[in-house]
Amino acid sequence: MKKALVTGGAGFIGSTVVRALLDLGVSVRVLDDLSTGTVDNLDGLRRVEFLQGDVCDASAVIHAIAGVDTVFHLAASVGNKRSLDNPSRDAQVNLLGTIQVLEACRAARVEKIVYSSSAGIFGELKTLPIAEDHPLVPETPYGVTKLAAEKMCLAYTQLYDIRAVCLRYFNVYGPRQRFDAYGNVIPKFVFTLLKGGDIEVYGDGQQTRDFVHARDVAQANVKAALATEVTGVFNIGSGTRVTINDLIRILRANGLEFSPTTGPTRSGDVRDSLADISSARMAFGYKPSVDLARGVGEYVAWAKGEMDHKLA
Ligand code: NAD
Repeated sequence: MKKALVTGGAGFIGSTVVRALLDLGVSVRVLDDLSTGTVDNLDGLRRVEFLQGDVCDASAVIHAIAGVDTVFHLAASVGNKRSLDNPSRDAQVNLLGTIQVLEACRAARVEKIVYSSSAGIFGELKTLPIAEDHPLVPETPYGVTKLAAEKMCLAYTQLYDIRAVCLRYFNVYGPRQRFDAYGNVIPKFVFTLLKGGDIEVYGDGQQTRDFVHARDVAQANVKAALATEVTGVFNIGSGTRVTINDLIRILRANGLEFSPTTGPTRSGDVRDSLADISSARMAFGYKPSVDLARGVGEYVAWAKGEMDHKLA
């Protein structure tokens, strides 16, 4: 791998993938429309070529892919709630945008595409741990479009000389993950607490999640790309699960003192989540390296820095 394109490279996970590639000495181009990402996420990085553009725009994608051997496709309309608010845009970006990327890859003879999929494609979780052959019954437009895009990547691998790996991320967290209306639980808790707000825990707090650090997700992307012959779908989590009550204990250990209130269980929320990551380990040596206590400590420090920066 000499030159890579990272779509969505100005986003939370994309900017972490960019850093992992630069560490390897790969030269990196980013295509991002800055709809949810920001160029601040690429601050201080040298050797990154930034192109502002939409993955739905064929000419922007063709231009971005010229001269690259590997594509990391992360640009997406992200999350269940956003897809319920705007299902058409979700489908446009996640499915049609992925087709634009695949078509440009085919025309430019790109060797490998690593697609960012999501555990949201499983729908209601029926078995634990969740292996790749778990039933796929997505329950939101986001889950449906991420699954359709995954299938499209695999179809291109069957049809053409292009190798696709689809990585199904579980709950990703880490620096540069900002909190907005669509936020995941760690940014939501940390930023709410730093702003002096109150936390509500849905149900008894004993529901479990598999939180995986963005640096481990980036590691998976790089290793999947370097394993040139590998194609297919792989779960990417930490392979461990913690309860929301455990997470609260870790936040307290990082100096965030609070007493959460308890609310009703949210309809549609899964009770337990845990990725079976053995396929990724066997196929390309994926091995999570950031444990939750360390990762959350680092995240709290980053979030405090963000708040100070905004106040300054
Ligand atoms: P993010 O919003 O930070 O990153 C998405 C990036 O894509 C942003 O920089 C955004 O500006 C860009 N983008 C959006 N639409 C675009 C378009 N039409 N053209 C070009 N760029 C566009 O979100 P993230 O959490 O970093 O997500 C990255 C990928 O990982 C997504 O594909 C998402 O579906 C997947 N994923 C994330 C999680 C998670 O827990 N965060 C879990 C599973 C899967």
